[in-house]
Amino acid sequence: MDALSALVKSLSRIPGMGPKSASRVAYFLLNSDQEYNSTLADRIENLKSRVHHCSVCGRFTEEDPCSICEDPTRERAIICVVEEARDVQNMESTREFNGLYHVLGGVISPIDGIGPDQLRIKELLERIQKENCKEVIIATNPTVEGDTTAFYLAREIEPLRIKISRLASGLPVGGDLEYTDRLTLSRSLNGRITLSNG
Ligand SMILES: [Zn+2]
Repeated sequence: MDALSALVKSLSRIPGMGPKSASRVAYFLLNSDQEYNSTLADRIENLKSRVHHCSVCGRFTEEDPCSICEDPTRERAIICVVEEARDVQNMESTREFNGLYHVLGGVISPIDGIGPDQLRIKELLERIQKENCKEVIIATNPTVEGDTTAFYLAREIEPLRIKISRLASGLPVGGDLEYTDRLTLSRSLNGRITLSNG
């Protein structure tokens, strides 16, 4: 395969990028100066070598533990559980939450062969006990899988006798934390539903 087609093929795998956009980007790069292309290639290269999952919360970070886990001003007794590392950024953008995070790394989805064991649930239960956590906010997406996961988590956490809440249904059904605007997200955070008072 020639260089141009190979690049278009790789770019086409980027979410939201069809073959047409991929080809537009490839031609743009073909016309760009070499310095720009080298910097771009370096930055892509650095991404995987420098950015890792925080060993405590699972979000992306260059330092381990990450800046949120290490921040002494954050409320350590509240843990917000999200599906993916990128969901932390959306939650942070509301500026309404000052606790800690826990990234599950997905949701329970039998169709995709993902069970509770493939998610960071055991780590969550350990953290709740170790960090003297008082409340867990389950912020999985309002999808069938997100709800199933929330239900499973609530059942697992219940014996630890702490408060468990779920983001209010201000989130559109079938929606995604990623596409939810800041106002809706902060409204559902403040109006969160208590599942268990511990
Ligand atoms: Zn962290």
